[in-house]
Amino acid sequence: MTKQILVGGVPVGGGAPVTIQSMTNTRTDDVDATVEQILRLEAAGCEIIRCAVPDMAAAHAVGAIKERIHIPLVVDIHFDYKLALEAAAAGADAVRINPGNIGGEDRVKAVADVCRQRNIPIRIGVNGGSLEKDLLAKYGGPTPEALVESAFGHIRLLNKYDFDDICVSLKTSSVPNTIAAYRRMAEVSDYPLHVGLTEAGTPKMGILKSAVGIGGLLALGIGDTIRVSLSADPIEEVYAARDILKVVGLRKDGPELISCPTCGRTKIDLIGLAGEVEERLQGVKKPITVAVMGCVVNGPGEARGADVGIAGGDGEGLVFRHGEIVKKVPQDQLVDELFRLIETL
Ligand code: SF4
Repeated sequence: MTKQILVGGVPVGGGAPVTIQSMTNTRTDDVDATVEQILRLEAAGCEIIRCAVPDMAAAHAVGAIKERIHIPLVVDIHFDYKLALEAAAAGADAVRINPGNIGGEDRVKAVADVCRQRNIPIRIGVNGGSLEKDLLAKYGGPTPEALVESAFGHIRLLNKYDFDDICVSLKTSSVPNTIAAYRRMAEVSDYPLHVGLTEAGTPKMGILKSAVGIGGLLALGIGDTIRVSLSADPIEEVYAARDILKVVGLRKDGPELISCPTCGRTKIDLIGLAGEVEERLQGVKKPITVAVMGCVVNGPGEARGADVGIAGGDGEGLVFRHGEIVKKVPQDQLVDELFRLIETL
C-alpha cells in the first residue's frame, strides 16, 4: 500500500478512495472565469483541481480563487521556484513542480521549506516529453526505466532537504509505456501515485487510451488519484474519470447506463435515444442501472438486471422496472416518463 498524503484535507494514497482530478483551462489570473469553471467541475464530481501558474499574476490569484471554491487547489509550476513560493503563500493546497528543473539546490531548499512549513505536498510530475537529456541518452528514449529514474532523481533532491510529503506521476502519451512505468514505480516505492497519460488526445481516442491506461492500472490496484487529460472542455475529463472508476468497480455512486447493441428487430433510433438518456443522466446522482433497449419484445427481459429502463417499439415504447412493464407510452414521451420514474426511486 502507498503512503498517504493530504491535499487540502483530502487523503490521497494509503487506501483512501481514488480521487478525481482535472485542470482548468481558463487564465488563472482571470479569477471569475477560473472560479466559474471550477464550480462546474466540482458539480460534475471533480475532487481536486489544478491550475497552471505561469506568472506572478496567476500566483497572486490563488488566494482569491480558493475563497470561492470547495475543493483543494494544486498549482502547476514549471521552472520558476518563486512562483511556487508565492502560490504556496497564497494558500495553494499542493504544488506540482519538478525540483530538478528549478535551478540551484538553494531553490529546491526554499520550496521544500515553505511546503513543509505549510504542510503542502509536492507532486513530482515526470513527463515523457520533457525528460532529462542524460536519461534520454542513457535509455535511448522516454522508457519506463528512464521515467522512474527521473522520479527518483527529483525525490532525492527533496529528501535531501528533509521533505518527503510527495506524490508522483509518470506520464507519457503511450499506454504501454505509461503502464510499465507506474508498475515499476509501484514495485520499488510506496509514494502515492497520480495516474494519467499526457496528450491523450481528442475525446474519442483520449478516453479510450485513458480507459485502458488508467483503468488497467487501477484494475491492478495501482493509482491513488487520477486525471484524464483530453483536448476538450475539462468537464469531459471529469465525466470520463468517473466512468473509469465505475467500470473498474471503484465507485458505486451515480447511475450506469446499459443499452442494447441493436439488431434487425430495432425499429427506433436507439443510438439517439441512448445518447439523450446518457446526457440527462449526468444530472442524476442515484446509484442505479438504467437500460435503453431497442425492442419491446426482448428488451425488458434482456435488461431484467437493470433497475429501470425503456424499450422502444413502433411508435410506442415501454417503461419498465426490473424487467416488469410499468407503462406503455407514445415514443416521444419515453425519455420523460423514464426520468419521472427515476425521480420516484
Ligand atoms: S433488445 Fe431487441 S433490438 Fe436490442 S439487441 Fe435485443 S432483440 Fe435486438
